[in-house]
Amino acid sequence: MRILIADDDLTSRLVLTGVLKKSGHDVVTAVDGDEAWEAMRQPDAPALAILDWMMPGLAGVEVCRRIRGRPSDQPPYLILLTSRGEKADIVAGLEAGADDYLAKPFDSGELRARVDVGRRVVELQARLLEARDELAHEATHDHLTGALNRRAFADILARAISAERRHHDGLALGICDIDTFKAVNDTHGHQVGDEVLVALVGLITATLRGHDVLSRLGGDEFVVIAGHTRERGCPEALRAPARRGRRSPDRNDGRGRDRHPEHRRQHVARGRDRGRPPRGRRCRPLPGQGRRAEPGPTCRRAEAELIG
Ligand SMILES: [Mg+2]
Repeated sequence: MRILIADDDLTSRLVLTGVLKKSGHDVVTAVDGDEAWEAMRQPDAPALAILDWMMPGLAGVEVCRRIRGRPSDQPPYLILLTSRGEKADIVAGLEAGADDYLAKPFDSGELRARVDVGRRVVELQARLLEARDELAHEATHDHLTGALNRRAFADILARAISAERRHHDGLALGICDIDTFKAVNDTHGHQVGDEVLVALVGLITATLRGHDVLSRLGGDEFVVIAGHTRERGCPEALRAPARRGRRSPDRNDGRGRDRHPEHRRQHVARGRDRGRPPRGRRCRPLPGQGRRAEPGPTCRRAEAELIG
């Protein structure tokens, strides 16, 4: 474990470093409070710090206070090193954010034991954080394909629409399913069906940009939320529906869209059409968008909607 030793006294620093290195720890040192605070502010800051109370610059207790003032998922374990043995001082040190204290002159056995307590707390904290992240991942991702699940999709879509209304960077939503997917399951079994779904997610993901989001709505239905569709470098597939839609004189009347194969799979909703399908095209509503409308034959295949 990486440990910071901050002490202005050279002898004390050398003894502490010697004991901790012998226990297998990786030690970094600071000679005053300012240097200690600087080291603990870094992204790769040590997980445990031993801070002398009396140091030039910031006192150890002030370094504790500053460290605790910063929000962190993995706060370091802090041990104050002090010759101030008064109960009131100890209370003040703990209240400033120290986890433990060690009285000077310290006993090397006690030092090792207290650092060991700190190591256990730090490790427990890391395991809890890992478990929390795993739970958060499971709550927002589809177990089979690893794509975001429907619940996460609804949250992200609401944020994306809100951002689009503010910035007008372009927002595309593409929904697709696999034709006759049931036949795959019926003929080859669900194991193969699962492999098809995983492979499809791999194919779609390979075409997405870093900030595009793929979600599994359920079964064999997937949706992509793509923001910033007006920026340079946006894939043609995300920009094309908007251009075709704006050029087409009969974009909303159901005629003409089949002249291009892509039109069988995509439709455009202009700003005034937000939230409802164009005339003549009845689509399933998105999560949280009112009651379910009857799906038309085209919508059963695939949809892409541009907003703005
Ligand atoms: Mg000192």
